[in-house]
Amino acid sequence: MDLLQTKDVLMSNYGERPLVIVRGEGPFLYDDKGRRYLDFTAGIAVCNLGHAHPGVAQILADQSRTLIHTSNLFLVPGQVKLAQKLLENTSFSDDARVMFVNSGTEANEAALKLARRYQSVTAGNSDKHHILSLPGGFHGRTMGSLSATPKRAYHEGFTPLVPGFDTPDTLDVLLEHIDEHTAACIVEVVQGEAGVYPLEASFLQALQQKLHEFGALLIVDEIQTGVGRTGTFFAYEQVGIQPDIVTMAKGLGNGVPVGAVIASASVAAAFTPGTHGTTFGGNPLAMAVANYVVDQVLEPTFLANVRVQGERVEGVLRNRFGNVSGRGLMWGFDVDDADVFVRDAKELGLLVTKCGTKRIRIVPPLIIQEEHVSLFSSIVRQL
Ligand SMILES: *Cc1c(COP(=O)(O)O)cnc(C)c1O
Repeated sequence: MDLLQTKDVLMSNYGERPLVIVRGEGPFLYDDKGRRYLDFTAGIAVCNLGHAHPGVAQILADQSRTLIHTSNLFLVPGQVKLAQKLLENTSFSDDARVMFVNSGTEANEAALKLARRYQSVTAGNSDKHHILSLPGGFHGRTMGSLSATPKRAYHEGFTPLVPGFDTPDTLDVLLEHIDEHTAACIVEVVQGEAGVYPLEASFLQALQQKLHEFGALLIVDEIQTGVGRTGTFFAYEQVGIQPDIVTMAKGLGNGVPVGAVIASASVAAAFTPGTHGTTFGGNPLAMAVANYVVDQVLEPTFLANVRVQGERVEGVLRNRFGNVSGRGLMWGFDVDDADVFVRDAKELGLLVTKCGTKRIRIVPPLIIQEEHVSLFSSIVRQL
């Protein structure tokens, strides 16, 4: 593909992209010159069943011949099926409720709006609208989620952001920022964009307790960690907390855009008819694929494989790099120069992403087997 031509027609917000990927198969991608790469990016923790998955392809073909889209003017049976599955297989009680959207940032927008509406309408306190988020947090690029994302570089030129958002400079003082005006705090259990840093269970438990003391809600952003990425369906299951609202997206559709929000009964009830909506959210095509993906992840051996391969990957990394951190099949580690590392890895047939000038993130498809970890190991030894 002519790169000059690309610059003539596409906006440059993604910068330059050195690879043109044209095909995939399982954990491998192929470029336009036929070169094969071991894909430890999985489309940023999205293609968890791998590329060109025959089951996903079949579902997509069948559903597209049946019905792709109706909008939410009509009931989509796949939404009911998937919501039931999510409620039955998570720690939310049966009276919790689910809403489907199209992306991560939209799931967070829905969660933030739901939290404010719950405090304003259900709890009857419209002054209780502050949204707290964590240093290092990443929640998306639309105005609401961007306002909860403290990274300065992402704000430049986009201010003023949404009022009422607050992120303290350090974690130590976070709890002190919770008061009677706090509507909710949004948090990742493992901070992905920040460098794959898991938060302490004791900190998250203290956060939940303090929020609830003040009648504020705990929103857990599982957009990257959800649907099996960390070795359990949700990462929060490993740290002894129960969110009031959880958001997910990336791993839910294996690349078909879909997101979801689960909220406990009393919170979910704040979305009365007409209060929030999306044209595409939860359409029959997305629901068919997401139902299939969730069925696969809930197979008894699936998450066990994530944990086994995760330990192997961790072993490889700890042997070779400093400051290794993560859970399941989501890891970060330090290198001298992340740009050089990404480029050299690519030359050796391995795709990874950087998440800092000296930090690399790997999020392979969750279906990788021992042979893929061995291949990863042999490439990493040359880096
Ligand atoms: C990717 C991500 C988002 C944003 O998702 P988009 O689908 O890119 O809008 C939000 N939160 C977390 C934790 C993410 O990793």
